[in-house]
Amino acid sequence: MKNYLIAFILFTASINISSQETPDYYLPESVTFNKSIPAPKQFFGHEVGEWHLTHDKLYFYMLELAKNSDRAVWEEYARSYENRPLGDLIISSPGNIKNLEKLRQQHLMLCDPSLSEGIDISNMPVFIKLGYGVHGNESSAQNASAIVAYYLTAGEGKEIDELLKNAVILIDPALNPDGMQRHSTWVNSMRSLNNNPDPASWEFSEPWPGGRTNHYWFDLNRDYLMLQHPESVGRVAAFHKWKPDINTDHHETGANETFFFQPGVPSRNNPLTPLENYELTAEIAGFHEKYLDSIGSLYYSEEGFDDFYIGKGSSYPDIHGSVGILFEQAGVKGHLRETPGGMLSFPFAIKNHVTVSLSTLDAALKMKEKLLGSQRSFYKDALTLAEKHPVKAYIFSEPDDNGRISEFIKILLQHQIRIFRTSRDYPGDGIVYKAENSFIVPLKQTEYRFIRSLFEPVKQFTDSTFYDISTWVLPMSFNISCSPVSVAKVVEGLTGTEISAAPVTGGELLSPDHPYAYLFEWNEYFAPKALYALQKSGITARVSTERFTYGDGNLKKSFSYGTIVIPASAQTITADDLKVIMKNVAEKYGITVYGVMTGLTPGGIDLGSSRIAVLKKPTVAMITGSGINSGDAGEVWHLLDSRFGIPVTLINAASFGMVNLDRYNVLVIAGSPDVGSAGIENIRSWNRKGGTLIALEGGNNWLARNKLAEIEFVPSAADKRTRGTYAERSADSQVQMIPGSIFNARLDLSHPLCFGYTRENLPVFKSTTLVAKPEADKYSNPAIYSDIPLLSGYCTPENIDRIKGNPFASVHGSRVISIYDNPNFRAAWYGTNKIFLNAVIFGQIIR
Ligand SMILES: [Zn+2]
Repeated sequence: MKNYLIAFILFTASINISSQETPDYYLPESVTFNKSIPAPKQFFGHEVGEWHLTHDKLYFYMLELAKNSDRAVWEEYARSYENRPLGDLIISSPGNIKNLEKLRQQHLMLCDPSLSEGIDISNMPVFIKLGYGVHGNESSAQNASAIVAYYLTAGEGKEIDELLKNAVILIDPALNPDGMQRHSTWVNSMRSLNNNPDPASWEFSEPWPGGRTNHYWFDLNRDYLMLQHPESVGRVAAFHKWKPDINTDHHETGANETFFFQPGVPSRNNPLTPLENYELTAEIAGFHEKYLDSIGSLYYSEEGFDDFYIGKGSSYPDIHGSVGILFEQAGVKGHLRETPGGMLSFPFAIKNHVTVSLSTLDAALKMKEKLLGSQRSFYKDALTLAEKHPVKAYIFSEPDDNGRISEFIKILLQHQIRIFRTSRDYPGDGIVYKAENSFIVPLKQTEYRFIRSLFEPVKQFTDSTFYDISTWVLPMSFNISCSPVSVAKVVEGLTGTEISAAPVTGGELLSPDHPYAYLFEWNEYFAPKALYALQKSGITARVSTERFTYGDGNLKKSFSYGTIVIPASAQTITADDLKVIMKNVAEKYGITVYGVMTGLTPGGIDLGSSRIAVLKKPTVAMITGSGINSGDAGEVWHLLDSRFGIPVTLINAASFGMVNLDRYNVLVIAGSPDVGSAGIENIRSWNRKGGTLIALEGGNNWLARNKLAEIEFVPSAADKRTRGTYAERSADSQVQMIPGSIFNARLDLSHPLCFGYTRENLPVFKSTTLVAKPEADKYSNPAIYSDIPLLSGYCTPENIDRIKGNPFASVHGSRVISIYDNPNFRAAWYGTNKIFLNAVIFGQIIR
């Protein structure tokens, strides 16, 4: 009984003090602190762990440390969408800080095989980046950064001096500031003054969409490769500026878990990452083991997570000569929480992240020369491996779309991939790459492994379980023609001048003085942006549903489906003002606008034909909130708002009944919102009156369930085995998944959903097993999976059979449009964006 009593007293005491932990709780016992550096409580007014730090508090603390310490400087690398700063607190000995630029230059030489050979690494510092909380609601990570930064700037003693003399440490305190701000505001505002650990408490369940993602609801821990958001653009630039030898990536997982550190699942490593990387990760893990043992934390490794997809914070470094390490702490998502394994406090979660930050630094110090040597050989080996590889280069071009190829090249350049113009024509894979618009990426360069991971289609896998997608062939997501070149001499002959910036898109107005009409084609990626800008200025536009040829003394040209026609006489502004606007739009959005003198054409329809349909300006609404996939909805919001300048009203499903739908002519459904039966009837009558209803992925189940469209789905691939092994249960359940693979679809180029495409084949991305049968009306399935559909990625023969011949997109009756897979995936599927944009813009003319 007495023992129970003591245990009870200790237990309740630990609850009461759990949120008042001083820095000593988190840090090694022997440390004393320099009093001139503000301790967290002096600055925040409370201890770390007592409240969740908001991003602004954490950021200003980093600035305060940099201001007060001669060991630290702050370097900003980006601003988030909400204008919050991202950066690194760079910490080293005062002597090293004075010499920082010289040390950085010397360090970068290790990554250049032409300079690295003779460098004496014994006197060079090791570079370590500690990165916290790319998922904004995994807050023990960001809060730990305050303690680690305080320890390294204020801590005294031989050990710290020795570390700082030999290391340059970059602390990235909050990798996703906007998400962090959302989450910290929620948990602080829902906290009771007496900690309530009841897991049912609202404190632990933040409202939709939560703080995991960035402003537009994107998972930033998938954007290291696609680089579509300012946070990752800045972060990857900072990575290449400093090329750290170790990169940590601090996360949270479910509250009922323990602590995870890498290595991850060995069979799910990316085959392009060298074996030595895993050996180093495992050796560093020995330090985490020792440190976590010393505080009695439960942990595991080599299960559950993997580094197959190389666009994550722990895998991007692995394929760049660095060691990326994923840490996953059981997430409190509040201040104190009951779990089956006992009480989980926020300070304890922070302490684990602090502990592995220190074990990583210890490992870096002890393994300094090994890490620097490994980084040097990684880049040296890249050139040797490239010599042996059968493919010597990739050649690519997109003659019909300057906007798309320019965005593609921008991504490659940010990853420090060297790109050259081609010096002559090259016939490859059934197409001729023209010298004037083709580019070549030789594999013999330091980014050899990364280039292969971006360009090489993969269909063979050693494991059928994927933590993330199974493929990410960048030319396919951009729908860019690309071929391997296998002869080194041919590559030499093809390689022209190197480019250092993406080619300018070069739009222009070609027009006589007082034209009858202006025309521009739809193949350019940013044509929808140009059209919307014109409509916003009050200009009336039409779209051609037929091909035609134009000819007068100045211009002879054929125009394809989807050509935009702006009749000069139909506008409310003067001819001169119209011309100024057309010129601006052409130059700004990279499109060629043609002024024509007459409405009569020598071939096909004339410009006054009823087959050139009047377009209304799209006014778009999207249902958001509970039942909607925030990722899919965020991709739509980001695409329309940020990339195309088209506003979209986000309507909360819960208040849908209050909304007058007549204000909109397009409604997007990216999930299964509960809008009640009155809401469904409202949508049905709005659609009959002329509204365009667009469903994405799972939104199509919702369409069918609510009888807004008749859709027949293909049954899932059945597991025909009658017996299974219990231990294999989890792996077996993954076999018939489609974790994110690329398939070929065939397009009907005359259909409004396909306007602007110039080739019938289109690579599309599919990451669900949802497959629908074609619409009975044979003219209403404009994008169909081809007979041999798999281009890259994992897919079983059973699923291939289910997919082939079935639609990627269909139209049901009038203006109810199904896109069964995701045309806007991770903001990087520039190739399929147009199908979605066409649904928004041309849905109104589909009969
Ligand atoms: Zn996470």
